Amino acid sequence: MEQTVKKYVDGFMADLMAKNPGEKEFHQAVREVLESVAPYIIEHPYLMDMKILERIVEPERVVMFRVPWLNDEGEIQVNRGYRVQMNSAIGPYKGGIRFHPSVNLSIMKFLAFEQTFKNSLTTLPMGAGKGGSDFNPKGKSDNEVMKFCQSFMTELQRHIGQDTDVPAGDIGVGGREVGYMFGQYKRLRNEFTGTLTGKGISWGGSPLRPEATGYGTCYFAAAMLATKGDSFEGKTVVISGAGNVAQYAAMKSLQLGAKVLTMSDSNGYIYDPAGIDEEKLAYIMELKNVFRGRIREYVQKYPSAQYFENQRPWGIKCDIALPCATQNELDADDAQKLIDNGCICVAEGANMPSVPGAIEIFQKAKILYAPGKASNAGGVATSGLEMTQNSIRLKWTPEEVDKNLHRIMDDIHAACVKYGTEPDGYVNYVKGANIAAFIKVADAMMAQGLV
Ligand code: NDP
Repeated sequence: MEQTVKKYVDGFMADLMAKNPGEKEFHQAVREVLESVAPYIIEHPYLMDMKILERIVEPERVVMFRVPWLNDEGEIQVNRGYRVQMNSAIGPYKGGIRFHPSVNLSIMKFLAFEQTFKNSLTTLPMGAGKGGSDFNPKGKSDNEVMKFCQSFMTELQRHIGQDTDVPAGDIGVGGREVGYMFGQYKRLRNEFTGTLTGKGISWGGSPLRPEATGYGTCYFAAAMLATKGDSFEGKTVVISGAGNVAQYAAMKSLQLGAKVLTMSDSNGYIYDPAGIDEEKLAYIMELKNVFRGRIREYVQKYPSAQYFENQRPWGIKCDIALPCATQNELDADDAQKLIDNGCICVAEGANMPSVPGAIEIFQKAKILYAPGKASNAGGVATSGLEMTQNSIRLKWTPEEVDKNLHRIMDDIHAACVKYGTEPDGYVNYVKGANIAAFIKVADAMMAQGLV
């Protein structure tokens, strides 16, 4: 059987790589899913006959467009915009928008592909998409960010809609950018609908949407720890990133009784042996969200902490690691350091932060390891709850949303355990997440015929 699976995976990947040359992040994301679902597909030959996997890896539509805008000096700038509409089998396309200079078609396709499985796991009726631009919001004035967002939306608005495709935030796209994009969408389409999620609380946003990804990641980690009769209480936590996901992962870790030791940005990380408590976290949130500063400034304010330029935090001894910055930010050496230092649980807040070699090390050591598509699904799930509130024109209380979010994370955890438990009792959350998500999407695609 193992040989048959390997042959199938290798053959499939060879075709995919030939058809999508140079898209290394996309290849990486597909391979990870393929390795999990191949045995299931081989056991169910009709899935092979129906070419379900061949159809899932092919986006339903990709839009790539010019985004021209004028900077504050009146100079013409040209960026490239993307929207990958990956899969609509179980609902309208849904997924974030990323503004970062590294954005390219491969990164958009990997994120949209992951989104297909993540959204399937949420239990909500959402298909998958992802978009973005190579625009770099860092160092730009509010006026420049607004002009860029307006130009981006001027084209994107043709392709989205509350029943078609509902974008949200991601790296470089937070409340400010969603606001500018929503304003332009509303102006051009003359409609006030729930076409974007992550909106401001007074104009259609859901309570707890900003918190949802970070909180959900911790709820998922707590569910994993509970399988060992353990919890966050008294644990040390190492977090990467200092953006939306990292901030609220830190907040929930503190609420659950843990001590947060690190946070980072793309220039380096801070290590505070005394712990980043509520007050220090409030400082970081103001520094990053209001002043758009750098994490290194933390050590000026709290001199007992240390700053490590151009380094990642994975060498710091901890019980729990929450990678919450970006893809491929935790390599095999980092994974080995975590294991050697006694880490028992890794839950990904970011998308695909661990390289395949790192995942292998976690799983070999049989620690609790959750892939982002399962553990960070709370963000898109709460976006789904925002869509529901927009449709029924009601706003729920934070408590109601939190209850739903917590339930959804527990349901995702249960699905992973159902499909990922190995004969020796170890839960392979990667396998569990991929198979549970795949079955739902595949069933929907089969039911809807060849479209
Ligand atoms: P933000 O832009 O708010 O924060 C991103 C953080 O990661 C910043 O601290 C940033 O540092 C750091 N970072 C970005 N790129 C790199 C890099 N190449 N190397 C090192 N650090 C980097 O984004 P989010 O918090 O929203 O997103 C973080 C991750 O979580 C992403 O993988 C995203 O796809 C994922 N995610 C987000 C969801 C959401 O609801 N927002 C939902 C599900 C997943 P700097 O300031 O220096 O750029």
